[in-house]
Amino acid sequence: MNVYFLGTGTSQGIPVIGSNHPVCLSTDLKDKRLRVSVWISWENYSYIIDCGPDFRQQMLVSKCQKVDGILFTHEHADHTAGMDDIRPFNFKQGEIPIFAHNRVIENLIKRFDYIFETKNRYPGAPSVKTIEVVNNYPFAIGNKTAIPINVMHGNLPIFGYRIDDFAYLTDVKTIEKSERDKLKNLKVLVVNALREEHHNTHFNLQEALDFIDLIQPQKTYITHISHVLGFHEEVQQKLPKNVYLAYDNLEITI
Ligand SMILES: [Zn+2]
Repeated sequence: MNVYFLGTGTSQGIPVIGSNHPVCLSTDLKDKRLRVSVWISWENYSYIIDCGPDFRQQMLVSKCQKVDGILFTHEHADHTAGMDDIRPFNFKQGEIPIFAHNRVIENLIKRFDYIFETKNRYPGAPSVKTIEVVNNYPFAIGNKTAIPINVMHGNLPIFGYRIDDFAYLTDVKTIEKSERDKLKNLKVLVVNALREEHHNTHFNLQEALDFIDLIQPQKTYITHISHVLGFHEEVQQKLPKNVYLAYDNLEITI
């Protein structure tokens, strides 16, 4: 399985518009972070997790040719605002399955009403097939199984996903033991760390490192990163063995 990091930034992306923060002014490409998303592919299958406002650019840069489905973690705009740009895939492939919590589907129906319109549908509108994700009910994606992991983004229950020995968790602040138990024997964990300072709804770096210690994956990649975490190269040097800061366009094979 190939995992391509389409974006590794927090909600504003890096650089932040109008910011003179040194990380925002950095010329290191690893300090440029689009909104968080990954592309997972194996054999002829191709899925993405989340579809944020940078989706179009991410599809162009990664040269992704098809999307068999989109797994949503939650409804926040940095994870969903790119929905309109699935149209080129619709024109080639037809409707695209989207997998999400029922609350997230309801939210998408409200915010992208024209996508879900059945009467007087605009012919060029994006088209999707919704599949509700329910915790403790693994579901098929291609010839693999995705296991939902219920995590808490502050007070909001959201999903991470485990596929074989790979797990992708973003926007986590807390996670119950029953859900942590679904993360045993991982080869690769992807998890969020926003910055060093405390945050109400996201792990800071220390919380992420403590969590990694509990889970003991073989390797971990950190994502959903704010510019205030610091320069990629400097932060990377401070991390423990087998823990890496992800960066945009990083590709790993599992
Ligand atoms: Zn987010």
